[in-house]
Amino acid sequence: MIPPEKIEDIKSASDIVEVLSEYLELKKSGSNFKARCPFHGEKTASFMVSPDKQIYHCFGCGAGGNVFTFIQKQENLNFVEAVRLLARRSGIQIEEQQYTGGKFDEREKIIAINKAALDYFRENLEKNPAAKEYIKARGISQETVDEFMLGYAPPGSGLFGLLKSKGYSEELIYKAWICKKGDTGGGYDVFRNRIIFPILNVYNDPVAFGARVLDDSLPKYINSAETPAYSKGKNLYNLNNARKHAAGSVNITEGYMDAIAMYTAGFKNTAASLGTALTPDQARLLKRYTQKAYLIYDMDEAGKAGAVRGGDNLFEAGIDAGVVSFEGAKDPDEFIKKFGAEEFKKRIDSAVPFFDFRVQRLIEAGDIKNPYYKETAAREIASLIAKADSPVIRRECVKRASLLFDIPEGIIDRYVSGKEKQEPEIIKAPEEKKPAGMKEKGRESAERLLTVYALCAFERDDRDVLLRHLTNKRELLGIAHDDFLNALYSAVLKKTEELYALGEKNVMSRLQIDFGQDNDAIAFISEALSRDTAKSATEDIKNMMDDCLARILGDKVTVKLAELQAKIKQAELEKDFDRVTQYIKEKQEIQNILSQRGEHLE
Ligand SMILES: [Zn+2]
Repeated sequence: MIPPEKIEDIKSASDIVEVLSEYLELKKSGSNFKARCPFHGEKTASFMVSPDKQIYHCFGCGAGGNVFTFIQKQENLNFVEAVRLLARRSGIQIEEQQYTGGKFDEREKIIAINKAALDYFRENLEKNPAAKEYIKARGISQETVDEFMLGYAPPGSGLFGLLKSKGYSEELIYKAWICKKGDTGGGYDVFRNRIIFPILNVYNDPVAFGARVLDDSLPKYINSAETPAYSKGKNLYNLNNARKHAAGSVNITEGYMDAIAMYTAGFKNTAASLGTALTPDQARLLKRYTQKAYLIYDMDEAGKAGAVRGGDNLFEAGIDAGVVSFEGAKDPDEFIKKFGAEEFKKRIDSAVPFFDFRVQRLIEAGDIKNPYYKETAAREIASLIAKADSPVIRRECVKRASLLFDIPEGIIDRYVSGKEKQEPEIIKAPEEKKPAGMKEKGRESAERLLTVYALCAFERDDRDVLLRHLTNKRELLGIAHDDFLNALYSAVLKKTEELYALGEKNVMSRLQIDFGQDNDAIAFISEALSRDTAKSATEDIKNMMDDCLARILGDKVTVKLAELQAKIKQAELEKDFDRVTQYIKEKQEIQNILSQRGEHLE
């Protein structure tokens, strides 16, 4: 368990605008910020972030919450993990003991194993002259070794024994893909006599390892398989360092050695996709840090095909991509060694815009004079153009494709818009949820509205008047929180009134922490807080609260009376006149109370 005070510290150290702007392009809009919603596909900005209330809310899909729920959704983490991530971001220490009692989940444990393994690999590099010599011969400086945390895995299975002596279970060590189970029982190290390239996530946690042989033996590279801490194609190698230099652009290479060579040569804004093509997840990850990327893939056919696929993903993510070509070497490492960094810089500066590169590849791939091939190629490029969110980019790309293919703009336009009609309207529309509560009728909507007014009251100067009014009136009418049909509104209103009655200073913050694990509640609270009631007078809000209470009471009584009526009928059938008399009495009592209380509602 992380203590609530700690969570509160972390929350106040994690300004929602600061944190979200690492993920979204936030634009100032009055006292709030707006962005395109990351949780549903949209072309207009209906995602609102409030720095005053420290919440976000999407008017399109109803998503909403605080900084913790955002990180949970965006990073695919649970609550505790999201809290930890933000703690790390703001430099707040959470002692390990505070976890051991609670859920210290698998992913965290595997990262802990990886950290122990990384220490072991780094110590072994220091102890092994042959490995150090190999690294030096590759032109890698000590500074780069430290920056990339390179290590060396010695022969044998020393790591397995070490991890066991640290108390990690064999099951978990195998899950971390550091060691494997041997045929005769016991485990052995996966990486032996290899240079180790740790794959660190953007928070510098080692999530996986790559390992290269020191000679020409095969396989040249071994990479960690997927583990609970690592999904292939979701991390970018060295993004943890490159993101600090990513303001202008990021260079994307294929492999470890390319990224390391470029970094060493002074191109510190370099990350590697660690695969033949940059994935959509990697493109979206990159978008958090930069608007522009250069694809620096090998000059062979596989490299060019990778640039097409990776470039498509960058294009869809809205990143301005360029493709760098460098004749005379097979990869950037070799090029820089042969011709120097200065020369490589010139290659980057003269990169071909990705869209032109893409069209050119299509033109080269077939007989463009053949109308059938031309038709296929034009449709392919149109389907790519349709993926751009920006109408300006779509327009410019249509113009460019028209010019390069020698096809009138109108035809490409039609292909592009044909795509558009299919995608957002037929495929995407059904996924869009209506804002929560829109389907509710009658009593539940009154319960909802009442809770919303209670929450909104905290943003107002007349909060004391309003909250006292609400609690008094509710009790006077005999409406308990348990009477609510909707458990969510019941729980939120109950907690709100309780915290207020206890004199809690920051009710909104406490509410969000107390409901921290309940995303529906957090979304509801945020949606409520996103309303602006500044123009409503105190009396108006009191009247609306009364109206809600009256509707809840009315419905409650109607239900109760209907129940009694059914019981009376049943008792009459059974000729149990004592019970009939009893029920009629109850019914009259309710009607009496109702007529008395009705006066309070006038
Ligand atoms: Zn949305």
